[in-house]
Amino acid sequence: MHVYCDFDGTISVEDATDFVLSNLANPAWEAIEQQWQEGEIGSAECMRRQIGLIHAKQHELDDVLEDVVIDPTFAAFANFCSCRAVPLTIVSDGVDYFIKQILVRNNLSHIPVVANKLTIVNPDGKPSYHLTSPHADQDCLSAAGVCKCRSLTPRDLRVYVGDGRSDFCVSHQPELVFAKGKLADYCFAEDIPFIAYETFADLTHSLKSAIPSLKGDALISPRHVAA
Ligand SMILES: [Mg+2]
Ligand SMILES: [Zn+2]
Repeated sequence: MHVYCDFDGTISVEDATDFVLSNLANPAWEAIEQQWQEGEIGSAECMRRQIGLIHAKQHELDDVLEDVVIDPTFAAFANFCSCRAVPLTIVSDGVDYFIKQILVRNNLSHIPVVANKLTIVNPDGKPSYHLTSPHADQDCLSAAGVCKCRSLTPRDLRVYVGDGRSDFCVSHQPELVFAKGKLADYCFAEDIPFIAYETFADLTHSLKSAIPSLKGDALISPRHVAA
């Protein structure tokens, strides 16, 4: 079994990229967002252009990231997986640096992240921000920066947790899908079986009932106990 989780709106309460943009980017970012909403551009192009509108110093960015709130039950879920030797990977069409900073602050930096790659040039002088998409796939219809459907490895039981449009392309593959928001609507329309959830506490509960072998207390000692 391997658990894959979306980040924005799934682990984080609000979209971390939108939060950073609304605090630090030139307001032109909203017009670009509109183009994406209307399907004129893919999410990869959208984010690359939006990220280029940030000119804050790195420490100012870090201050804004401090205020991004995550699901308060996620850390317990990560620990649940870790105690049972179930790999947990974050697969996000967001920004790697944003996600990693947020994970560090929550003592969760051991969780691997697949996301778009941010480079900050001249972070303390006159900074410029550049986003690249090493996990994009030209053949994927999603036109996303991270093609999630190519990011899952074949495995006996893949569990996917998501909430939105960036999860559509991948949602046809996993053996078990947990969905809320737009992803739940999509799964419903596409006849993809899914389990509805609100928080990661629901997930811990559902996985224990769906997979009896996960029920017991810790099977191995936790490798990563939050300090
Ligand atoms: Mg999301
Ligand atoms: Zn894809």
